[in-house]
Amino acid sequence: MKIKGRCTVCGRDFPADLVIEGETVGRCPFCGTPMDADYSGNFVSALASVQRLGSALEAALDQLDALGPVFEMDENSLLDPLRAALAQRSKVTSARQSA
Ligand SMILES: [Zn+2]
Repeated sequence: MKIKGRCTVCGRDFPADLVIEGETVGRCPFCGTPMDADYSGNFVSALASVQRLGSALEAALDQLDALGPVFEMDENSLLDPLRAALAQRSKVTSARQSA
């Protein structure tokens, strides 16, 4: 899974890989603003985990494709918790930006 993000300072979009590793780790690859001025290491680690676990989920779903023809997956039971987590993240990061 290749997660993409946007810098809220300069508005540019970029692949998360550029923030996880390389010369711009923890910073916007365009304007250099730290993605988290206080918890950069934790942010990079968490973003890397999300991308790695997303890839693992994709691989598991690929594996499931050819199996269990009688099982119909309720997609919302998979996606709703992820949407809820993303909404919660959005709410918390907005609160931190306003503080
Ligand atoms: Zn930027």
